[in-house]
Amino acid sequence: MSAETFVFEAPPTPTVPVIGSGDFAVRRIYCVGRNYAAHAHEMGFEVDREAPFFFLKPADAIVSSGATIDYPSMTDNYHHEIELVVALGAEGRDVPVADAHKLIYGYAVGLDMTRRDLQLAARDKGRPWDTGKAFDQSAPCGAITPRTMSQDIGSATISLTVNGERRQQSQISLLIWSVDEIIHWLSRFFDLRPGDLIYTGTPEGVGPVGRGDVLVGRIDGLEDLKITVR
Ligand code: MN
Repeated sequence: MSAETFVFEAPPTPTVPVIGSGDFAVRRIYCVGRNYAAHAHEMGFEVDREAPFFFLKPADAIVSSGATIDYPSMTDNYHHEIELVVALGAEGRDVPVADAHKLIYGYAVGLDMTRRDLQLAARDKGRPWDTGKAFDQSAPCGAITPRTMSQDIGSATISLTVNGERRQQSQISLLIWSVDEIIHWLSRFFDLRPGDLIYTGTPEGVGPVGRGDVLVGRIDGLEDLKITVR
């Protein structure tokens, strides 16, 4: 188990700061697609309560609040998606909805940054979304507030401004799949573990950002997420 067994230096563990504590070591990043009705509509879909669908980002796509991120190559339509992030602090498999809250360590404000042109092209051709969704620096995440310290997240307002102008605003209560339902469904597909983050989907108002833009995401009761694009 010594470091000498690695053929090169092991990469650092991606982390997110925790309010009042140390750091949260990120294991996996799960994301929920189309989880607000008004956003599903703006993307050209009807609301589907059959089953939620998921995609992943690599753990090292995490970026902390206050950072400046690079406008990515290979896109002309780089979009913001403000989202509630759920941080897991316990493991679970096939978790009933009624027990899902026991896995929650805390909450944060996140951005599911998206190369919209590549995502839509992949969608229309039936190809994987990875180059549109799972690229470097695509998962900015604000500091995590432990669940024990947070108010009822279900009644919070979520919003995003770009250069001080409001682009997205909605209510967490409008999630098509609630946080507990998301954990239930996700735990049927994957073994959930401490260190997992779940981006729960974006409300309507997604749109492009450019170099020099300053993005500020807010959810009541949580620390703001601030990101600059260069
Ligand atoms: Mn999203």
